Amino acid sequence: MERSRGLLIVLSGPSGVGKGTVCKELRRMMPQLSYSVSATTRSPREGEVDGINYFFKTREQFEQMIAQEALLEWAEYVGNYYGTPTSFVEQELDTGRDVILEIEVQGAMQVHQRFPEAIFIFLMPPDMLELRKRIEGRGTEKEELIAARLQKAREEIEMMENYHYAVMNDQVELACERIRAILTAEHCKVERIYPAYQAKLNETL
Ligand code: 5GP
Repeated sequence: MERSRGLLIVLSGPSGVGKGTVCKELRRMMPQLSYSVSATTRSPREGEVDGINYFFKTREQFEQMIAQEALLEWAEYVGNYYGTPTSFVEQELDTGRDVILEIEVQGAMQVHQRFPEAIFIFLMPPDMLELRKRIEGRGTEKEELIAARLQKAREEIEMMENYHYAVMNDQVELACERIRAILTAEHCKVERIYPAYQAKLNETL
């Protein structure tokens, strides 16, 4: 059967919901997925490695990538740029591998316009109290900042209706199981299977 193009999966959700943690666990559970490494202008955190966690760029370098249309999507988030390099994603999709992007909500909406066939998964917190706890738990935020982040999270949660699936992040393993189930179901869709399968049917005639 002819190998079809891979699926583009966008995993997004409000700040503090645990996208990074879920993605880390998904990498362990689903090593066959391709994980896009984003470019960013924020400084590396302890333990982060250039080319593995992010491609760390200066603002000039990042703006050059925007000008060269090298980014599939990009957004400015809490004072820094974040964006997805297009070439890696296209290359992986062409070889038939599924690619996952872990990005914030504004960027996800840009992908929606450029890749309407992508699968959009919204990771949601069990409730706002839990989200507040997680934002506070980072221990780096002052009270006004926490309030601002929560307000932003509320606005981001309202974007959920633009997504295909909503996955609750009550427990990381459970959330990953739900994502795995979504991908399995997506691969079983008749519209993906039937065109290539039709050719096989004719082989016996
Ligand atoms: P952090 O600085 O904590 O690593 O990431 C901050 C936010 O940027 C997270 O919500 C993360 O999902 C998002 N992010 C990471 N990479 C990208 C990207 O390539 N594009 C967009 N739009 N957001 C990204």
